[in-house]
Amino acid sequence: MYQNFEESLQADHKSSAISRSEKIYEEGSMAKISLVKCENYNSEKVFAAVKRSVDLLGGIEHFVRPGTKVLLKPNLLSARVPEDAVDTHPEVVRAVVRLVRLAGAEPVIGDSPAGYGANIEDIFTKSGMRKVSEEEGVELIKLTSSKVVDEIPISRQILDYDCVISIPKFKTHVITVLTGAIKNMYGSVVGMHKPHLHSLAPKEKGFAKIVARIYSITRPELTVVDSVVAMEGDGPSGGVPREMKFVMAGSDGVAIDSCLAKIVGLNPLDILVTKEAYGMGAGEADLDLIEIAGDPLDDFIVKDFRLPQTTLLKFLPEVIVNGVATLLKFRPYINVSICARCNLCKITCPVSCISIGKDRCTIDYKKCIRCMCCHEICPYKAIFIKRSILTKLVWG
Ligand code: SF4
Ligand code: SF4
Repeated sequence: MYQNFEESLQADHKSSAISRSEKIYEEGSMAKISLVKCENYNSEKVFAAVKRSVDLLGGIEHFVRPGTKVLLKPNLLSARVPEDAVDTHPEVVRAVVRLVRLAGAEPVIGDSPAGYGANIEDIFTKSGMRKVSEEEGVELIKLTSSKVVDEIPISRQILDYDCVISIPKFKTHVITVLTGAIKNMYGSVVGMHKPHLHSLAPKEKGFAKIVARIYSITRPELTVVDSVVAMEGDGPSGGVPREMKFVMAGSDGVAIDSCLAKIVGLNPLDILVTKEAYGMGAGEADLDLIEIAGDPLDDFIVKDFRLPQTTLLKFLPEVIVNGVATLLKFRPYINVSICARCNLCKITCPVSCISIGKDRCTIDYKKCIRCMCCHEICPYKAIFIKRSILTKLVWG
């Protein structure tokens, strides 16, 4: 299935990428996103903000046809409570459920967390998604079977539904720096195929190409970003919540991620995933060519947003990083006193280099490819990122 995978990443996929939303994304037209203030997760406030953000784009009827089934794809990464800001907040998902129903369509909530989805029931419960599903009478599903598209196994449900609405959480990410609209569609890769793809493209650039390709294949009709409370620091699961107080919507995920980058003081094309998706023609990254409806973007800019500590390596020239890579290393480290021995990291590790024992938990660093899947999946925040002494000296 993955034969010549690295080579295939070199190819120009602009023409081969299949878009779910070509009917909405008109090439050559100006990209448009909407940005709406939302103070907190009060149900009515969130619904009003989400509705306004979609109304500014032409209304939900512009994206959803009556009588169709619509898959809502939140970011359900780990079994954590909403206050941890790891998963998409249930109130934002509830707001989209209600909006889709207003258009006369039937919503279904679905995702495919990593680690074989071993703890999926736990994730549904702790994230608050099961409660929303029961209270709103909406089906909650685990994405299961895959279909290989462009050599990548993609969830059949994502490909087959009439319409997909992506509902990412805005967070930092130790591998991709930020995660928003584009990266959320990496969740279209079912279960253990996710860490396997990491092992096929262990370097950031190769991984960014894969993420961008998945986005260009699965491009959702609409994206609604939960950034009422985002995550800064060592995201996507080990960081800390950060109030940002907005929701953002649009059909162009590249434009959305570009605006998110601008809000936290980054150049959109410094984010490799955005750069690759833009290069593939999957959306607009030029801020001068993105129309922003709703509240002014400048009102949400934060000057002290904390990026992941691994960001240092991503902004250094490749030649320097390769030359001093061994001195500037980051690596995962298991804190045995916090570890609950759930084995999720061990199951998820693509190169099987983690051992979890009663008294000792270890990582074989000779085999470790620094994909940080273990750090991402640990529901107990028991895996930290350790920096070398030189990295601490350089970066503080
Ligand atoms: S480190 Fe985390 S994921 Fe791994 S076994 Fe311990 S608690 Fe589970
Ligand atoms: S130990 Fe963690 S970072 Fe290393 S390869 Fe395994 S999952 Fe990736």
